[in-house]
Amino acid sequence: MTLIPGRECGPCTVCCTAPSINKPEIQKLSGAACRHCDGGGCAIYDSRPPVCRAFYCAWRTVDIFGEDWRPDKSGVLAYVETEGISEDFDLSTGIGLMLVANPLKTVRQRWFQDFVVTGVTSSIPLFLSLPGPRGYQAATVSLNTEQMLDAIARGTVKDGLEAALKILRGWDFQPAAITHTGNDVSTPG
Ligand code: SF4
Ligand code: SF4
Repeated sequence: MTLIPGRECGPCTVCCTAPSINKPEIQKLSGAACRHCDGGGCAIYDSRPPVCRAFYCAWRTVDIFGEDWRPDKSGVLAYVETEGISEDFDLSTGIGLMLVANPLKTVRQRWFQDFVVTGVTSSIPLFLSLPGPRGYQAATVSLNTEQMLDAIARGTVKDGLEAALKILRGWDFQPAAITHTGNDVSTPG
């Protein structure tokens, strides 16, 4: 994995909070901050577990995202998606956009809409994702739909995104399985 030079996580701990982690060396519920988050980043960064070492959000690894997309600033945890990519695409990976702050405010932002328009019209697999309640899996829908293409053509991409968000908000969220119990490092705070 190649990291974009000059980009550091800094005080961002979004990926240490939003997802669940279920590994022998570390477990946490989705939505619960890892207990190693010290307010300024990871307190054990140099000795963090392998699962943490292996993950970087797309802001750290994909150069289509500008500086302002750091997840704690933008409210969007962008990640490289490798699953659920239709064979209709030339690409085997896509981009997930998890709304981790104020979802409605985010999808009403022009910079976010512009990104979606560019991605969808460039046939990049794009997904919109919403975290579930604490301890539950996120909900995800594809943005490469006929409805979104129609909304883009009509200049109503905001409405298209709000419609996608409405689907996510009505999701039947499923519990995130935490099967490992040893060395549990985090409990909901
Ligand atoms: S979400 Fe990205 S920028 Fe934030 S801590 Fe994780 S890898 Fe770093
Ligand atoms: S150990 Fe550090 S990098 Fe891993 S989830 Fe916890 S705070 Fe984040």
